[in-house]
Amino acid sequence: MKENFDDFIKDLKKCDKCLKTFGFTPRPVFWGAKNSKIVQISQAPSASVYKTMKPFTDASGKKLINDWYQIDEELFYNPSNFYITALAHCYPGKNKNGQDNTPPKLCFELWIKKEIEYVSNKIYVIIGSRAAKVFFPNESFEELVFKNNYINGKLAIVLPHPSPLNNRWIKKHPEFINKRLKEVRKIINEVLQN
Ligand code: SF4
Repeated sequence: MKENFDDFIKDLKKCDKCLKTFGFTPRPVFWGAKNSKIVQISQAPSASVYKTMKPFTDASGKKLINDWYQIDEELFYNPSNFYITALAHCYPGKNKNGQDNTPPKLCFELWIKKEIEYVSNKIYVIIGSRAAKVFFPNESFEELVFKNNYINGKLAIVLPHPSPLNNRWIKKHPEFINKRLKEVRKIINEVLQN
């Protein structure tokens, strides 16, 4: 029998499977509810989020919430609206070059696959090429961003990562800000209002 969602989340919050790999205590970040309207899946929490334990409380979050979605934080962090998850629930540390490590694949297999089955969302928002690759392994990231996609029969919007490190991609694709983002905003507002 499928385990209870609340018990599942309790177990997830205690997970320390990546302790050895990280070399520091993993802190799984969780945000959302079983009835959230939008499941948003990105890469992994940042070093700032490791401290706050609240997703997207960093430069990426400012851009995503204020500039791209153009909604207030109250709406974004209302669990009835967004279920915020990622390929890994924990900040994975940095490599020798100061870049965030690759999210451990284990997390998706162990937790996230099951987790998203619990949620009765209306749409998905997939953030960043790494997350897009997991759901759409055979499709071009550029094409995914500019069209409507589907996961389990539900609309799936694909966005580039809003990190300042990704500014080059945004500059190279001006039609993303000028056209696609307006369509995305409209879809998200409609979902939030219903
Ligand atoms: S990243 Fe996932 S699997 Fe690894 S410790 Fe965190 S919750 Fe557990």
